[in-house]
Amino acid sequence: MSDLVLLTGISGFIAKHVALDLLGAGYRVRGTVRSSAKADVVRETLKKAGGAVDRLEFFEADLIRGEGWDAAAAGCRFVVHTASPFPATQSRDKNALMPPARGGTLRVVKAAAKAGVGRIVLTSSVAAIYYGHSAKWRTRFSEADWSDVESSHISDYAMSKTESERAAWKAVEAGGPELVVVNPAFVLGPLLDRETGTSAELIRTMLKGRLPVVPDITLGIVDVRDVASAHLRAMTVPHAAGRRFILCGGSMSMMDIGRMIALADPSAGNRVPKLVLPDFLVRAAAIFNRQARAAVPELGRRKILATEAAEQALGIDFRPPRDAVAAMVRSLKELDLAN
Ligand code: NAP
Repeated sequence: MSDLVLLTGISGFIAKHVALDLLGAGYRVRGTVRSSAKADVVRETLKKAGGAVDRLEFFEADLIRGEGWDAAAAGCRFVVHTASPFPATQSRDKNALMPPARGGTLRVVKAAAKAGVGRIVLTSSVAAIYYGHSAKWRTRFSEADWSDVESSHISDYAMSKTESERAAWKAVEAGGPELVVVNPAFVLGPLLDRETGTSAELIRTMLKGRLPVVPDITLGIVDVRDVASAHLRAMTVPHAAGRRFILCGGSMSMMDIGRMIALADPSAGNRVPKLVLPDFLVRAAAIFNRQARAAVPELGRRKILATEAAEQALGIDFRPPRDAVAAMVRSLKELDLAN
């Protein structure tokens, strides 16, 4: 049986860790990149991190185009679909990310089915689970929940993750490859190279002292090393088929993230956030600022994410968020990205 895995978006923060784990477990990895110029960078990064890059190859494919996906999926036993835009800012148009996210996911699922792939692992997000629920009393969320795309508060990103995951489930309803979905919370942890991405940019901004005040927002956090393990297990654990798995190591307020950064790097102690913005100021800013508007429904909310499924079925023993923050700070410093 083929040991070839198609890993879409291999240049991404999460995907490079997934690639390392796949190579470490003896698989051959075919990574997709939008431009071949990225392939050399990824190869170098994975080689430096100890990956067996002789089992690594690259195919070019863009989620917004049809070309390349059939060829990329041909001969693969598994597909791990991580590629999707994860922008740091919100668009005014809530459908802005749908062509690469939903359209791209459908292209990947179709190509996988055509190639006779056995199982697809889709990187969805908690953004497909817990947004758009306005009732404040709603605190616990599980794999049974879906973000409400009809809500006026839904962001383009949450919309893209919810709709692409729904489309993937629908596409395999009538048969084809098995589907397993992982829904990570906000992913932190070590960077493998200087490509930061949205996750690292938040920590970097705090480290540099560019975020002196933060809103009263709490984030679920998961370490990228646990996210990578979860992808591998989602790919191989037989009874994972047909299920979603929330990935989260715990929650932390923005202020606490700042405190953790200062613990990991005492020299940043006077640069991390010092003050929680009063809610009324965030609400006032929301009148003219889209990012503030997106923050309003999250103010003061402490969402609890059910992680029993990932712990029990995938055997993930989640690292605490403080380890993920500390590891990300260490890597930013080592990569000379902290100043
Ligand atoms: P990232 O570093 O920005 O990686 C995104 C990847 O998607 C990159 O490889 C990017 O390719 C690729 N991509 C974007 N648009 C594409 C297109 N039109 N065609 C082909 N490839 C495209 O983000 P990440 O944090 O690793 O996220 C990876 C996945 O995890 C995404 O699906 C994201 O929604 C999900 N996720 C992330 C988090 C988090 O906190 N980081 C949490 C939950 C879920 P280029 O390098 O060419 O841009």
